[in-house]
Amino acid sequence: MAEEAFGEAGTGRLRMAVQKKGRLADETFDLLKRCGLSLSQSKNRLYARVQEMPIDILLVRDDDIPALVAGGASDLGIVGGNVFEEERAGGRLGSRVPLVKPLGFSKCRLCIALPKEDTYSQPADLGGMRIATSYPALTEDWLEREGVKGATTVVMNGAHEIAPRLGVADAVCDIVSTGGTLDANGLKVAETIYRSEALLIGGPLEGEAKKVADALQLRIEGVQRSRDAKYVMLNAPRSAVEAISKVLPAADKPTILELAGTAEKVAVHTVCREAVVWEHLEELKRLGASAILVLDIDKMLA
Ligand code: ATP
Ligand code: ZN
Repeated sequence: MAEEAFGEAGTGRLRMAVQKKGRLADETFDLLKRCGLSLSQSKNRLYARVQEMPIDILLVRDDDIPALVAGGASDLGIVGGNVFEEERAGGRLGSRVPLVKPLGFSKCRLCIALPKEDTYSQPADLGGMRIATSYPALTEDWLEREGVKGATTVVMNGAHEIAPRLGVADAVCDIVSTGGTLDANGLKVAETIYRSEALLIGGPLEGEAKKVADALQLRIEGVQRSRDAKYVMLNAPRSAVEAISKVLPAADKPTILELAGTAEKVAVHTVCREAVVWEHLEELKRLGASAILVLDIDKMLA
């Protein structure tokens, strides 16, 4: 594959920027795979080409994705809301702020944390503090919204957790998933200031690029829909079908099929769009259902 071919104007191939390596990258590649897309990488691993659709994937650091899309170097991007909103709040996207579609994965929280021994009851308690963070714009916006007086940010690009011990800050504002890192460093969460998930950003697009982007979005929506969705099959007394339909979570209208050799019992088939848990199955059984099967759905197109 020719190295210079990436994203050339006029080739009609859609350009999409994704994280090259990291937490977001793993889940992004998984999403593309579930969309039925396979990638062939260039020798220098700066981009990859999608085989099944006219899409070129630019492999970059996540921090660069919002600007690449806002600046028009890439048509689409997949990036954490934390990174995107920080760039936007920092005024670095200019006037061409892209459209945003939440993708439901890479969920994490941006939290302000304090030394465990500090007492904390409300945002005003942060007054006058120095907060170490790599999200200064989001942190400052939140401090202003909450009316916190005299707090400042200290920009650090890693090892925030040790900033209070080093005496360079009084608090930190960083991504938290389990809180284990904070705990190990003698810190506790005081406030969650932003809940993040991966976003598809880009557009509005026109012409051929729009057509490809729409087709990709349709596949992504199909993957999102099928993530929790289950195909449920069971046998039930005809008289219980209505009650059973009400128990099935977010179910479509069921298909009712005759069972050989009996008039009282029928087979019920339906798609549930929300997670089916053991409590649902127990309730179904109580209503007279038997031979209950819950199957994964690989793909779904509305
Ligand atoms: P890069 O080298 O691309 O700059 P990075 O070190 O900034 O990578 P990662 O740690 O790979 O970034 O995280 C990328 C994104 O994944 C985060 O910005 C966030 O949106 C998301 N994420 C999801 N879960 C977590 C988590 N537990 N900790 C940190 N980030 C997470
Ligand atoms: Zn990064």
